[in-house]
Amino acid sequence: MTQSESLRAEVAKCNRCGYCQETCPVFAVTGVESSVARGRIALVRRILEGRAELSEEMDHPLFECLLCRGCVSVCAAGAETDRIIVESRAAWRRQHGSSAAWTAARETLLDRGALIRAARVAFSASRLGLPRLARATGLLRLFPPGLQAAAELVPQPPARFLTDLWQELDLVPAHASRRVGYFVSCGMNLVQPRAATDSVRSLAALGCAVEPLDNCCCGLPAYVSGETGTARLAAERNLLAIEERPGLDAVVTDCASCSSHLRRMPELVSPDLRERAERVAARVLDYTQIVGQASWPTALRPVARRVTFHDPCHLARHQDLAQWPRTILRVIPGLDYVELPEADWCCGGAGTYSAAHAEVAGSILARKWGHVQSTDADTVVTACPSCMIQLEYGARRAGSRIRVRHISSVVAEALGC
Ligand code: SF4
Ligand code: SF4
Repeated sequence: MTQSESLRAEVAKCNRCGYCQETCPVFAVTGVESSVARGRIALVRRILEGRAELSEEMDHPLFECLLCRGCVSVCAAGAETDRIIVESRAAWRRQHGSSAAWTAARETLLDRGALIRAARVAFSASRLGLPRLARATGLLRLFPPGLQAAAELVPQPPARFLTDLWQELDLVPAHASRRVGYFVSCGMNLVQPRAATDSVRSLAALGCAVEPLDNCCCGLPAYVSGETGTARLAAERNLLAIEERPGLDAVVTDCASCSSHLRRMPELVSPDLRERAERVAARVLDYTQIVGQASWPTALRPVARRVTFHDPCHLARHQDLAQWPRTILRVIPGLDYVELPEADWCCGGAGTYSAAHAEVAGSILARKWGHVQSTDADTVVTACPSCMIQLEYGARRAGSRIRVRHISSVVAEALGC
């Protein structure tokens, strides 16, 4: 393992107090010390001190973490377990190599056109009832691992993606007061295109001239898998895609995972690009931020629903933006907002996690869905396509009629756009 000073310093912060046990969704399921931040950090410390090997078997404790930052939120010592784990995964990859899934998926992650073509074929097979065929033929291996899980979890893949619909959308209103670059999330484009359409329409209705960016995947799936080379290439390609649109007032995305990861761009790109990446990262806004702070028209349509909100980890814990969705939902007339117990606990989706650790993820989802049902809400709203997929799976599994919606769909309904 590369014994970077920063990794050693981060590991040294842990004083073994154990408070992180209370907020770790994985530990709540397994009850074993190796699942909680204290145990994971102890393992990395042993490796750094040469008392343990970074063996192939270490993939389980390293890759079983959700990177949800539940532990970080209660750690008085300030140990950033998610950073420790990601850096350790990268070291594990350097020692043991990329997985076959990553070798196959690298090019689709870096090229939106290639990803869209792969999605069309895989989803066609799925619509024909052939998801097993898609998997057996290796088609799903062309997807970055996070989307492989999505492709298998989505029962009715969309016939058209957001990128098929651009020409039909009026994204530059006459009253626009600012130009925003819309960063196209793979999950929103390919799996939740209706919600993505609501996002861009509502941004336009709130006075934004929306310019779709020619970006590739944000690179988060590669980053969390320890595929640092691919994560760097994605960051650098997206830097150039954003710079192709000079003078933007903001770079906006409706995927909390993307907005969170785009802010990390300066630490991912090569040193000669860092200053440019800092300028871009400073202009990144999550959809909930820009809409929560926008001037809304006084005449809004009532939305007669009882609504609760699930906080994506990448919104609440990675970006500290939990106030904005609540601000938005409380503005909308007729909407009965009820707070979700443990709203900021991970839902178990976490990109590849629900596929790679299905049993643990299933238990985490059961806890989340139980809380959703306890609110008597008819709609659970969130702000990340990965959470939507997981919550929709939770609803199907429970035979529940509770609807899962992206917050932009509720906003679009209130704005009548
Ligand atoms: S990670 Fe933080 S909360 Fe957990 S044992 Fe270490 S110091 Fe305590
Ligand atoms: S990041 Fe989440 S899953 Fe990982 S140790 Fe911390 S609380 Fe547990």
